[in-house]
Amino acid sequence: MSKMKFRKLQTMNKECSVLGFGCMRLPTIGEGDVRHIDEPKAIKLIRQGINLGINYIDTAWPYHNKESESVVGKALQDGYREKVVLVTKAPIWEYKEPADFEKYLRKQLEKLNTDHIDIYLLHALNKMRFQRVLDLNVLKAAEKAKKEGLINYIGFSFHGNYEVFCEILDAYSWDVCQIQFNYMDINSQATEKGLLYAGTKNIPVIVMEPLLGGKLVRETEETLEIVADAPTHRTLAEWAFQFVWNYPEVKVVLSGMNTEAQLLENVQSAESSCPNSMNPIEFEVIEKLRCAYQNLFAVPCTRCEYCMPCPSGVNIPMNLLVLNEAAWTGSADSMKGWFDSFAQTPEELAEKPNNGAAQLCVECMACIEKCPQGIQIPEELKKVVAIYKEQKDPSLVFKSERNKRN
Ligand code: SF4
Ligand code: SF4
Repeated sequence: MSKMKFRKLQTMNKECSVLGFGCMRLPTIGEGDVRHIDEPKAIKLIRQGINLGINYIDTAWPYHNKESESVVGKALQDGYREKVVLVTKAPIWEYKEPADFEKYLRKQLEKLNTDHIDIYLLHALNKMRFQRVLDLNVLKAAEKAKKEGLINYIGFSFHGNYEVFCEILDAYSWDVCQIQFNYMDINSQATEKGLLYAGTKNIPVIVMEPLLGGKLVRETEETLEIVADAPTHRTLAEWAFQFVWNYPEVKVVLSGMNTEAQLLENVQSAESSCPNSMNPIEFEVIEKLRCAYQNLFAVPCTRCEYCMPCPSGVNIPMNLLVLNEAAWTGSADSMKGWFDSFAQTPEELAEKPNNGAAQLCVECMACIEKCPQGIQIPEELKKVVAIYKEQKDPSLVFKSERNKRN
């Protein structure tokens, strides 16, 4: 019998499982190829999750090259739709005019094979995208869809900094919000302060990336030693999940599961979750893990954006993000496509304002004093160029840095 834990989303008087099924990392055909979902495996896994007590299913228009919603729609046939809170997201970046809200919503309903969406989140809001929401009257269109019964609740998912998060929270009576949160992100993204602020406003918080895209299960000599010495026996994944569930403001923690083993481990972890249950010794373990992982980053950028805008149009936080990714993975592969999507020349900046690649830095030094983390930004941008433009081996680029640390 399922011992899944549930928490109430107070704005909608709904009990949701503390573990939500995130459908952006479903099983695929061919390792690492997100475009082709292994449908039978994905459908089986989603249904197994529901049978184990998960009742919160999260997908979005762009996931898996726009295939995730259709597969979720198939998984929710045969009586499963009625068992879950179905969440998908409005692809604001695709909108050209106000009518696009309804156009995309209807396409999504068709893909999901349902007549209504329980929670519709305005996807990945940041300052710029929220301005678009306002310019295109998206909230008015969302309220109309709510009245027509096409969606039940309106929320937003967020990638930005604390100030913008609070600004968006205060701008509307949201039913729910979704943020990136884990023990590495207490001072970045919406931040712990933002999470607590949502709590004071009585807005339920859904958490994504509890494992920071899988990084917090990376086994190193140091992290394995920390968990082995810990007073409570938990895996690296469990430590990360329990840290997030410890916040009563957090209602659902999403996990993109793609194997049965992951699903079973996460369900078991969810069953033992409890708000405000971590003790000071357990927090010490978290602190040790945080330090251990921090050392694997190239730079301590929190993406606060205080350094922006750069007069030369460099998207500093995003270039540092791809740098960190190369430091973590030892390769440029996973972020090369992202780097290539930045404006590569001053001419391309007209199309992609403030989204320039590292090589556009002219070393004016204007950003350095604005960075609260003391990052030597122009120096770090040179490493981005070395790895992503000149295709140098990341381990060689970071070698001298690591030698300095050791
Ligand atoms: S040093 Fe480079 S990144 Fe920093 S503000 Fe100047 S041009 Fe932009
Ligand atoms: S480089 Fe510094 S100022 Fe810029 S986003 Fe990162 S932490 Fe913030």
